[in-house]
Amino acid sequence: MTDSLYRIAVPVPLRRLFDYRAPGLNLARGARVRVPFGRRELVGVVWEKVAQTEMAEAKLQTISEVIDFEPLISPGISKLAEFASGYYHHPLGEVMAVTLPTLLREGKTPRGQTLPAWQLTDAGKALPLDELNRAPRQRALLQVLQSMPEGVLQAELLEQGFSAALLRQFAKNGWAEKINLAPENEPVPYRSVASPVTLNEAQQQAVDTVAAVEGFQCFLLAGVTGSGKTEVYLRLIDQIRQKGQQALVLVPEIGLTPQTEARFRARFGEQVAVIHSALTERQRWQAWDRARSGDAGVVIGTRSALWVSLPNPGLIIIDEEHDLSFKQQEGFRYHARDLAVLRGQIEQVPVLLGSATPSLETLRNVKQGRYQRLALPNRANEAQMPVLRCLDIRNAQLDEGLSGALLAKIREHLGNDGQVLLFLNRRGFAPTLMCHACGWLAECQRCEAHYTVHRQFRRLRCHHCGSERPMPQKCPHCGSDKLLSLGQGTERIEEALARHFPNEKIARIDRDTTRGRDAMQRWSDAIRRGDYRILVGTQMLAKGHDFPNVTLAALVDVDGAFFATDFRAPERMAQLITQVAGRAGRGDKPGEVILQTRQPEHPLLQTLLRDGYDAFAEGALNEREQHGLPPFQPIALMRAEAGKVEQAFALLSKAAQALNASGITALGPVPAPAAKRQGRFRAQLMLEAANRGQLQQVLGALLPELENWPEARRARWSVDIDPQEM
Ligand code: ADP
Ligand code: ZN
Ligand code: ZN
Repeated sequence: MTDSLYRIAVPVPLRRLFDYRAPGLNLARGARVRVPFGRRELVGVVWEKVAQTEMAEAKLQTISEVIDFEPLISPGISKLAEFASGYYHHPLGEVMAVTLPTLLREGKTPRGQTLPAWQLTDAGKALPLDELNRAPRQRALLQVLQSMPEGVLQAELLEQGFSAALLRQFAKNGWAEKINLAPENEPVPYRSVASPVTLNEAQQQAVDTVAAVEGFQCFLLAGVTGSGKTEVYLRLIDQIRQKGQQALVLVPEIGLTPQTEARFRARFGEQVAVIHSALTERQRWQAWDRARSGDAGVVIGTRSALWVSLPNPGLIIIDEEHDLSFKQQEGFRYHARDLAVLRGQIEQVPVLLGSATPSLETLRNVKQGRYQRLALPNRANEAQMPVLRCLDIRNAQLDEGLSGALLAKIREHLGNDGQVLLFLNRRGFAPTLMCHACGWLAECQRCEAHYTVHRQFRRLRCHHCGSERPMPQKCPHCGSDKLLSLGQGTERIEEALARHFPNEKIARIDRDTTRGRDAMQRWSDAIRRGDYRILVGTQMLAKGHDFPNVTLAALVDVDGAFFATDFRAPERMAQLITQVAGRAGRGDKPGEVILQTRQPEHPLLQTLLRDGYDAFAEGALNEREQHGLPPFQPIALMRAEAGKVEQAFALLSKAAQALNASGITALGPVPAPAAKRQGRFRAQLMLEAANRGQLQQVLGALLPELENWPEARRARWSVDIDPQEM
């Protein structure tokens, strides 16, 4: 058999690649091909040429079309995809598909955005100009077409004054024909507008340190909002652009505001390609293509921009590296920050992680010497840090979560012409049970984890080990009957505020009111103008927006997050508090930050308020180490979803047995935080491993087997490595 055989990554949920014949063809890894698959045709990506196949001769099919003769996906991205496929236990074919924008995934050609154009036929090419001397327009057109043998865009011809009738005449005479032509993409040469600021010492040192690196090294650029991190990014990008290299900048979803974009464009103009979710498919693919071809020297994007192939990368930056939006929460659940670091290693370029509130993962990497810390200790523009204070709300009368003391504070700040900002919890935390009188929390004795309230059944359930008990009527600590489940009722806060402040317009800012890329900008403008003086929102409000007239910021329910079942919730809350503190009082007015809590003495909370985020993080890391949680020990979640509860549980229970037998601790299954969604039941199993190798190896062996269990056909399941939300 002399046929060439190729192994193709086909976008199907199967953990293997497929072999095809490609007689007489020479294909490169990363090129797309169309292949028959079952009754369909799919667009796959060439993985490798193979000498032989295990597939039966009769089943072996032939590639039906070669879409790219040159690889569309760079070798670096192929390597990254291969690693990610193994690490996250996600089929390589699907991972490869994720690396491409939708239009390319569908098999469109990269430069396939074609436009009508005209090209001479052989007859037209042979026609001497002199023959048209008596028809000057025809002669002129012939001359233009002869000078451009690849064809001329119709739009350009019309612009030059050639009429459509004249073009039709040429066609009729058999001299020219209409073709489709891709517009030329022009590489945008390096150009930079000089920076208006002189770097301070810390900034300069950060720039020099990163610029001195050859090959890979990962840095944490730690600095509060306004300390000049972006300025450091811009300088470094400028340096690598001078060498003709490309920069990739990943920002959180909410961070890619028109303001951010404008700032990069002001410095680098047309060299910038921006990739975000509000683009049309066509725009996204064009930006992607400008990056892949090297035409764009600076690529800024949200999570998925990680996968853009770059011919000449020189630097990777992740801004707000702790941000949750870098984790893909469905399908192929990868973490763009973690993979970006790996990409830096593969491509041998430095990686810069920026944050005012670094993730515990990153801080541990710094402690272990894997990442180098660069600090910007001061705000570039001197502004006072606000006063942070706990407001003890034990036994306080609450109106939809608002205490009288807080309402009085709001009134006071409004009276002094300030704006106030109220933060609510992120949705999705499973509610825990707390005593409003003394701050007692219902905890599982076995796990020291907080019980989750299942109101429906009036029961408490340990999210960790699955044990259950009836909901107590009275607080076992102080006897009060005021037991409440945290994290509830905050939605109605807006109504309560409207009752207390009938003359104020209230801005509610959350996922629902900020759809569309410019929505946040419109809110931001309205708030800065003072159209709204009371702002209510989720953590979205804390990021990247500068409201100089906000003098009071309040976190309505710190406990809901600090005592959530999700072990990462305190870290998130601390990040939020720190960011909020960076928001209040940035103008000339001093700010005040108030945290409503029933456990004002909580050690981590105290540390945070007294000594700041870094000290908090130190304490939180110690706790994680004691409990064998990430980043010290890896965890994974196995999720299942089915029409019936038992189906989801059956699969996970069987998986738990198999995992426990292989030395992994599988806890559960337990119902997922949102246990029922769209009529389907969701359950999850938490996996704790001694180390990564063990987790990888055991899952790698189990999943191909599990795929074929009958239980796996009755439930949709997925594995989430390093889950960010429990
Ligand atoms: P971050 O990204 O950490 O929030 P920025 O880089 O956006 O900080 O800087 C905050 C503000 O301070 C911006 O308006 C920026 O232009 C300005 N700035 C940054 N560095 C300097 C500096 N060295 N001297 C003066 N102003 C600076
Ligand atoms: Zn338990
Ligand atoms: Zn009590």
